Amino acid sequence: MKKELTIDDFKSMLEHALKNISERVDEFSSLDAVIGDGDHGQAIYTAMLTAVNTARQGVEFKSMLNDIGMNMMLQVSGSTSTLLGAFFLGMGDCVSGTRLDAAEVRGMFAGALANLQKQTQAKPGDKTLMDAVVPAVEAMQLCKSEDIVEVMQAGADAALAGAAATTRMKANYGRARNYGERSVGFADSGATSWSCILQSFVEALKTMAD
Ligand SMILES: [Mg+2]
Repeated sequence: MKKELTIDDFKSMLEHALKNISERVDEFSSLDAVIGDGDHGQAIYTAMLTAVNTARQGVEFKSMLNDIGMNMMLQVSGSTSTLLGAFFLGMGDCVSGTRLDAAEVRGMFAGALANLQKQTQAKPGDKTLMDAVVPAVEAMQLCKSEDIVEVMQAGADAALAGAAATTRMKANYGRARNYGERSVGFADSGATSWSCILQSFVEALKTMAD
């Protein structure tokens, strides 16, 4: 049971996500190479490294999340840092203080998705990261538990299922659309990496729960 998320808890979540992402860089890039330029592993690693390094100076949620989002957006490495940056900026829009309860964590992720949806028109079914993120944030909103581990677990489970479902899909967004049938049989790189981040968040939370 974990009823409160502190700044230090959140920093640990980011560090655990960076570690897990770093171990799967080649996998994410290989998936991206099926329908893109094969740079996604490095791009998501660089974005998460920025998150961890920026968070070190953080003393309260709103400014820390805004700083993370801005520093990601400043990276000119394509859509990955722009989209993840928008996600963190949206998180910062909806929180304040140094401790969050489960309802505030739900609100933080709802704000993240709302801001992400201003950056991309992609919808679930298009074979993008939205196939992981949209069901994850929706599942978190539906989980009314006071236990932040349960809320995050609901999101991570939905993200994993959503990412797995992209394997059967045909790319339907952006330049990847040109690959059509050739994209079927491989999971989307962004859905897979964002799912990894959310899985990492709940893994880290479980080590903190009492
Ligand atoms: Mg790419």
